[in-house]
Amino acid sequence: MKFATYTAHGQTLTGIVVGDTIIDTGVPGTMIDLIRNWDTLKPALEEKAAAGGGIPLSTVKLEAPVQRPGKTFAIGLNYADHIEESKMATPERQVWFSKAQTSINGPFDPIKIATGTMTADYEVELVAIIGKGGKHISADEAAHAIFGYCVGNDVTERMWQHAGPQWSLGKSFDTHAPIGPWIVTADEVGDPHDLGLRCLVNGEQRQSSNTKHLVFNIWQQVEHLSVGMTLEPGDVLFTGTPGGVGAAMDPRQFLKPGDVVRCEVEGLGHIEGVMVAEG
Ligand code: ZN
Repeated sequence: MKFATYTAHGQTLTGIVVGDTIIDTGVPGTMIDLIRNWDTLKPALEEKAAAGGGIPLSTVKLEAPVQRPGKTFAIGLNYADHIEESKMATPERQVWFSKAQTSINGPFDPIKIATGTMTADYEVELVAIIGKGGKHISADEAAHAIFGYCVGNDVTERMWQHAGPQWSLGKSFDTHAPIGPWIVTADEVGDPHDLGLRCLVNGEQRQSSNTKHLVFNIWQQVEHLSVGMTLEPGDVLFTGTPGGVGAAMDPRQFLKPGDVVRCEVEGLGHIEGVMVAEG
C-alpha cells in the first residue's frame, strides 16, 4: 500500500494512494500515529483501499509523509563511487549524522538556498521509514522494524558541511530534507536492495545507481543505530547517496535559484523541487 500525508480544504490528513486517487484513511492524528497502530489498523485500511472512492491526487497538496519525525538520521559515504569522488577512504564503521526536524520538506515544495550561501547540493537517496522500531535490533530482524520506503533528497550546504568535523549543520538547513511523494509499505517494495535511483537537475541526469551498491545495507544500518538508541515509529533514515554530486563535478556545479531537482527511486515515484533564494 501507499500512504501519503496531504492537505485538502485546509485540512492535513493521511491518505491511501490508489492509482491517481487518494482516500482519506480516517485515522486521527498524523502518519506517526498511523504507523504506531499499523498492526491494528491494517485490515480496515486494506478494505478502504479496495473499496476505492478517493479524490483525484491532482486536487490535493502532497506533504512530507512524516512531517515531524522524532529522528532523522543519514549515513555518509555509503556507495563506492561516491566515496571515490569525495576522495575519502571507505569507512570501516558506519558514518552517521542527523538532519534537524525543521529540515523536512514536502515532496514538491521549493528548496530554499539560505542567504549568503553558495554551495547547495543534491543527494538522491532511498529513505527507510521506521515502523515498530525498537532497540538492539539484529540485522536478521531489521526488515520487520521498517514500515516502508520513500524517495529523499539529502540536500547539503557543502561549505557548512565541511566547515568542521561534524556534518549536521550543513545537512540541516530549512527545507533541506524533502521526502515523499508517499510511503510505499515494505511488503509492497519487496527487496529494498535492488532499486534503481536517479537525480536529475533541469532534466540532466546527474546521479544514477542502484541500492544493491550500498556499502552498509539497510539491515546493518538498523542494527548499528539501534545499539544505542530506540528507533521509533516514523523515524526517518536516509540510506546514502551514489556518485555524481555537484561538488564532485569538474568544474563544481552547485544549485542556483530556478534549478529544478528531481529525485526518483524505482517503484517509489519521484519528488521534485525548485531551488529558490531565501527571503
Ligand atoms: Zn546523504
